[in-house]
Amino acid sequence: MEILLAIFDFLFGCHHSNLSRVFTLGGETYRVCCDCGAKYRYSLTTMSTERRIPLTPVLTRFRIA
Ligand SMILES: [Zn+2]
Repeated sequence: MEILLAIFDFLFGCHHSNLSRVFTLGGETYRVCCDCGAKYRYSLTTMSTERRIPLTPVLTRFRIA
């Protein structure tokens, strides 16, 4: 099931590059896609954006739109 979700996320997930600045809220450091609201985990040790925080992308899109 996780493979199916990964494929689905690859096909329909966020592929935008318009990311916000880095936020740290509730002990979690992340950036947000300014186009669709997807959250990307940000590593303060490597100072780089890591993988997207797994949310349900379809629900996120409906909530933002
Ligand atoms: Zn996006």
